[in-house]
Amino acid sequence: MSDLSSDTILSALAPANIRAIAPYQGGKPISELAREMGLNEADIVKLASNENPLGMSPKAQMAVEEAIDDIARYPDGNSFALRDAVSHKYGVAPSQIVFGNGSNDILELAARAFLSAGDEVIYSQHAFAVYPLVTQAVGATGVVVPAIDFGHDLPGFLGAMTPKTKLIFVANPNNPTGTLIPKAILNDFLRQVPKNILVVLDEAYDEYLSATDKSEAIGWLSEFENLIISRTFSKAYGLAGLRVGFGLMHASLADLMNRVRQPFNVNNLAQIAATVSLQDDDFVARSYAANQAGMAQITQGLTQLGLSYIPSFGNFVSFKVTNAGAVNQALLKHGVIVRPVANYEMPDYLRVSIGLFSENARFLDVLEKILKS
Ligand SMILES: *Cc1c(COP(=O)(O)O)cnc(C)c1O
Repeated sequence: MSDLSSDTILSALAPANIRAIAPYQGGKPISELAREMGLNEADIVKLASNENPLGMSPKAQMAVEEAIDDIARYPDGNSFALRDAVSHKYGVAPSQIVFGNGSNDILELAARAFLSAGDEVIYSQHAFAVYPLVTQAVGATGVVVPAIDFGHDLPGFLGAMTPKTKLIFVANPNNPTGTLIPKAILNDFLRQVPKNILVVLDEAYDEYLSATDKSEAIGWLSEFENLIISRTFSKAYGLAGLRVGFGLMHASLADLMNRVRQPFNVNNLAQIAATVSLQDDDFVARSYAANQAGMAQITQGLTQLGLSYIPSFGNFVSFKVTNAGAVNQALLKHGVIVRPVANYEMPDYLRVSIGLFSENARFLDVLEKILKS
């Protein structure tokens, strides 16, 4: 017998590093807001999770519909067809690719394959929330480098290195700030990182970069053997709900990450959709163009409302507003879901994903009403 409540007893079962993890706060699902506010799902606009407002490639959708018949079968644990497609598209050997259940899985596999308790992991203030999460989950220690103008301070990263540093997360562009590290600066940084420290370069938004800004890091893999590049099908490819991403790296690192990977971590529909999506350049081009237009629409609208924002290279933008928490609540009440980013140490900001023209217009319209009331 004990006087302790079950909660206390049960939570004590997890080690301190697990209990210290702040749960990931995702964008509110449309169905949840509809329930909470008594709204129609059709009247709700969700601009909260950087999803592709155009949906997915129509060719991929057809392939998925056909593949439904094979759901009773386990997926190919080696993702043969998808591996072949990624290998050809990016000019890397099949042995250099690791597939993940979303690119979050790649980030976690890197942590599980390479980190142990006591190792230090460097990432930026305001960087993607999954970095501290996977770091803490394996008992490693996160080292946060203060941002400069919301961007990564790479000289600060070099200064934060200690003999315990094992891995560095770099988000380029970063979410939720949208900041981009220029190629030359990133390359210069990689040159200065010792070979026994891994650099995980998260390029979830690369498809939204202009031809001049697009990453060249895949071409650097042979020079930097400690580099792991992660990519996703969740953003420009519009497959967020299927969960598929991949990491590109030296084959020896890929071999280690594959050892801790669940054998069937990428389901068969995700493999097929991703394989077909990779060939649909037209869909990616349309998604890029829609994002450029929507970004201009939203940033001009914010400026007209007298609001400042952090110039963004992604498919979202974080803007500054007085009483961000109250404004967020008012937006929700009117059926508009954006993302509060107080948990990113940005309590005065809200992040809005770029949607369709009509969705962006609705967001700006409701925001204007709230600010003027
Ligand atoms: C959205 C996002 C991802 C992608 O996550 P998935 O697991 O692939 O859906 C990865 N990194 C950053 C910085 C992101 O914003």
